Order: sequence, then structure tokens, then C-alpha cells
Amino acid sequence: MNTLLALAYLLAAVLFILGLKQLSSPKGARNGNFTAAAGMVIALGATIPLLHFTSAGIVIIAIGLVIGTVVGTVGARLVHMTAIPQMVALFNGVGGGAAALVAVAELMRLGVHPPFAEVFPSVFSIVIGSISFAGSMVAFSKLQELMTGTPITYPGQQIVNLLLAAAIVGFAVAVLAIASVPFSFLSLMVLALILGVAFVLPIGGADMPVVISLLNAATGLAVAASGFTLNNFALIVAGTLVGASGSLLTKLMSDAMGRSLANVLFGAFGQARAGIAAVAGGGQARNVRSASAEDLGTLLAYSQRVIIVPGYGLAVAQAQHAARELADVLEKRGVEVEYAIHPVAGRMPGHMNVLLAEANVPYEQLKEMDQVNDDFKNADVALIVGANDVVNPAARSTPGSPIYGMPILNADQAKNIIFMKRSMRPGFAGIDNELMFGPKTVMFFGDAKDSLTKLVSAVKAA
Ligand code: NDP
Repeated sequence: MNTLLALAYLLAAVLFILGLKQLSSPKGARNGNFTAAAGMVIALGATIPLLHFTSAGIVIIAIGLVIGTVVGTVGARLVHMTAIPQMVALFNGVGGGAAALVAVAELMRLGVHPPFAEVFPSVFSIVIGSISFAGSMVAFSKLQELMTGTPITYPGQQIVNLLLAAAIVGFAVAVLAIASVPFSFLSLMVLALILGVAFVLPIGGADMPVVISLLNAATGLAVAASGFTLNNFALIVAGTLVGASGSLLTKLMSDAMGRSLANVLFGAFGQARAGIAAVAGGGQARNVRSASAEDLGTLLAYSQRVIIVPGYGLAVAQAQHAARELADVLEKRGVEVEYAIHPVAGRMPGHMNVLLAEANVPYEQLKEMDQVNDDFKNADVALIVGANDVVNPAARSTPGSPIYGMPILNADQAKNIIFMKRSMRPGFAGIDNELMFGPKTVMFFGDAKDSLTKLVSAVKAA
């Protein structure tokens, strides 16, 4: 590698790291994307002219660049915010697939008995990249509702998966120790693709964001291994960063849901949910209090402190602008307003931050769970907008509940609770929420956007 190329890769690596750092706060996230993208442009820009490709190679690279740029740009512009998890799955999956294909090409080039140090990263890339590709495609299909989102299970599933894993280890050893021939490494690839599908099938559709994050980390590692194969320092750094940050994100998401990663991956949750959802239906017969928009508008208008708790329903209803509008009219009346952001509110990490940033909610009003939880007891109103599990006290009080142990927002400690949703149906976890029946709670039924718009008018009129 010549010095210029090494320096360009070093600069790209620094920009990737700075970009990641900026992504860790909502304020810097937008710039973080640009910083990391600049790093990628430098890495690509340096690779193409400084490595000596044939003219046919350059044409193929140019075609790839054009296709990638068009698909990436159009995809990112057209995608709805609620569909981001499946878009990430798709893009992440093709990254893993690309790493696997690069490794296959390298093994073909290296011959039957390549040195261990060269063949090992390729074998690793083929296995992990193929699992990531196939698993991500299943995750995409589940979230895009191209197939059922419920866990697909059958008797002996774990044993089949174990046998597949054992066969993969067998073929990997064959490629490494006996002969690197197309039969062995292509069989390895096919088995890893099958394992990728088999591994994701039993996981419930709504658990996919955690799985996608894990597969994302796996793709990073496959790409880093490609870096060793191709002796490309930029790939090693970028892949390792993705692997490390994806692993941390996976852990954070599992912790924030109060579940172990094993529990997410091996389908126990899906089964628990199905059982408890049946019980949840029984809650419909109980009485709840509800109120008119006018009454709630008066309550809000004469409050001193209101904490808005956004959840998945706010995203579905695209009610972020209406929430901002309500906060604005309240603030004009001197009411202090803040937003309590639970780490797994919605269906993807940072879901609420992204939505509220889109509505230009000032960053200083967005409070993370640990920052805001002590404030609820001093709040006149906790306004729950399309959230459910993240305020469900069962997480504290009901051992055996699927969310038991998940840290929740202390909305129940507010002086009044306005619970906005369309019906008494449960949220993602499929369980009743006692908070809806609490003495301080008033239900306000309807689509979140319509309901917030009604509250804006009611506050103005109060
Ligand atoms: P929930 O899924 O618990 O609840 C959302 C509520 O919104 C529902 O009860 C629903 O009730 C209501 N709702 C749906 N559509 C609308 C609408 N148009 N207008 C008004 N209300 C609506 O959401 P939370 O955000 O509280 O919790 C997120 C859940 O997702 C957690 O269990 C978390 O573990 C899980 N999860 C989160 C991930 C993440 O990364 N953020 C990843 C994977 C899972 P109704 O139908 O009656 O309107």
C-alpha cells in the first residue's frame, strides 16, 4: 500500500470515528452522518485511482457506484420513518452478502492450498456474511409484511439449527485444513445462508430491530475480515467500528427491554406474549375514566409542568408536529413542557428522537429516562401519546410479566395522567396496563394526531 493511500485511509478512519462520536447525541447526529459519509467518499476516492485496476474493472466499478448511489439515495428519500428498520436490514444484508462474495472471489484466486492466514479471514467472511445476508432478508420480509411477522417454529428446530452449525464448522475445517475447492467453500456458503434463514424464522417480527442490530454487528465483522483478506486497512477499521457499535447497541436495546439477548433470539418472548395477550383481552370489560378534549384542554392549560411521553402510536399517527404544536401553545401560556424519551419507545433505537427532531422540538426539551424520571412526581400532567409498554407499572410489580425488570418511565407518579390511544388494546408486549385503570388516569381515545389537534384547539380556547 503506498503512503498516499495509507494516509487517505487514516483520514477516513478518523472521520468514521468522529462521525460515530457525533451520532451519540441528537444534536450532532445529522453532522455525524455527513462526517462519516465524507470518510467513506475519501476511502472510495482513494481506493479507485490509487489501486491499479484494468479498464474493464473501472467500468464495472463505475456501474456499481452509479447503481449503489441511485438505489441508496432514492431509497433513503422515499422511505417512511416507520420503515427505517427494514431499510437498515436490507442495506445491512447486502453488505454482508458483498463481504461473502468478495471472500469467495479471493478463495478462487488463491488456489487449492492457500496460506492459513489468508484463507481463514475468507472463510470467516463467507460464514458470517452469508448468515447476515440471509437473516437480514428474512428480517426485512417480516417487517415489510412480505411474510408473517409471528415466530415460525416447528418441532426439533433447535436441533436442526445445531446440525446446520455443526455442518458449517465441518466444511470450514475442510476448506482450512484439506482443500480450498469451490465445492467446499460454496457448500459452506449455502449452509450459512440456510442457517441465516433458520436463525431468524423463530423470532417475532417486532423483535426484529434487536436482531437487525445484531446482524449489523455481524456484517461489520465480516467486512473487517474482508479487510484482512484484501489487505485493506480502511475496511478493517470501518468493519470493526460497525461490529463494536452494533454489538453495544444490541446489548443496550436488550437491556432497555429488560430482556437478555438469548431471550430475544430464541423466541421465548413470542410465546410468552401469545399467552399473555389472551389474558389481556379480559381487561376490556373493566371501567376506565375518559374525558372530553375541552376538559383536558383546561387541565393542561392551567398546569405548571407537563411531561409528554411519546411512543409507537405517535410514530404510527405521524403526530410529532401536532405534539410540537401543543407544546408551543402550552409554553405560550407559561406551562413548562418536556418530553420523556424511553430508550425503546417506538420500534427502533432513537425512534422518538428522530421524529421529534423532524418536528423541530428543541433538543433541550428531550429528556432521557434517567434525566426525567424524578421529575414526574412534580409534574401536573403526564401526557402519554401512543406509548404503552414504556409506562406499564407491571415492569416493576409483576414477576413473570414479559416486561418484568424493564426500566420504565415514572408516568404513574404524575399528579394526573392523560393516556392517549385508540382503544384498550395492548402494546407490543401484548399485556394489560394497570395504569389505564388507575385513579389519576383519564383515557382520551382516538388517533394520536387527531386527539392532539383537538387538544391544541381546547387549550387555545381555555
Ligand atoms: P407500545 O407498542 O407498547 O404501545 C403503542 C400503543 O400505541 C399501543 O398500545 C396502541 O394502542 C397505540 N397506538 C397505535 N397506533 C396509534 C395511533 N394511530 N394513535 C394513537 N395511539 C396509537 O409502544 P411503546 O413505545 O410504549 O413501547 C415500545 C415497545 O416496542 C416496547 O415493548 C419495546 O420493548 C418494543 N420494541 C422497541 C424497540 C426499539 O428499538 N424502540 C425494538 C423492538 C421492540 P391502540 O391500538 O389502542 O391505539
